[in-house]
Amino acid sequence: MVITHSHSDHLLDTPYIARRLGVPVWGNESTDTLLRLHGLPGCPQVLAGGETFTIGPFTVEACKTRHGLVAFGKAPFPGRISPDLHPPLRVWHYRHGEPPLLIFVTAGGRTIFHQGTANLIDNLLPERRVGSAWVCVSGHMYTPDFVPRLLRRVHPERMIPFHFEDFSRPLAADTPTLPGSDPRAFGRQVRAAAPEVEIVVPKPYERIPF
Ligand SMILES: [Zn+2]
Repeated sequence: MVITHSHSDHLLDTPYIARRLGVPVWGNESTDTLLRLHGLPGCPQVLAGGETFTIGPFTVEACKTRHGLVAFGKAPFPGRISPDLHPPLRVWHYRHGEPPLLIFVTAGGRTIFHQGTANLIDNLLPERRVGSAWVCVSGHMYTPDFVPRLLRRVHPERMIPFHFEDFSRPLAADTPTLPGSDPRAFGRQVRAAAPEVEIVVPKPYERIPF
């Protein structure tokens, strides 16, 4: 498993899945801390951005980013998860960790780009052509020129807007979207900037080929 940052909506189930499947977890230092708080081995490699590593047939390239902002222009729950906590943790204990990451995953000649938070550091994001780009919609409106800046670095055949449901509720077809996170409106912005990109809005539990 690869975890791009350590907020609860990304990391909460990770120790349980890792223990159940017996798989290693890559992530930033706070993901490493959380695994250890749950009595699991830490990450095989703690990621800081700039690493390229393989997991079976997959090659993963990690890039440093900033976390997206929310209302009032702040990143939610910044900083690092404390190693002195005792699970179960509260939502505010899950700090995003340093740094938040974006990843490219390549296998079988295809690459996907995974953007788990709607922000970027332009000169640290390599320019790549990818089959599909999974892009966080939540908070994108607080990152200036987010869509055109992203499309200057990442050139996808397909863009899959995600991270738009209200994750405090169970995931279902009628789960409301987060404020300002309409994936279709986001798709229209992408289409205006890059009409050749196909937009696919994923449905809950839908299987989407790599
Ligand atoms: Zn987050």
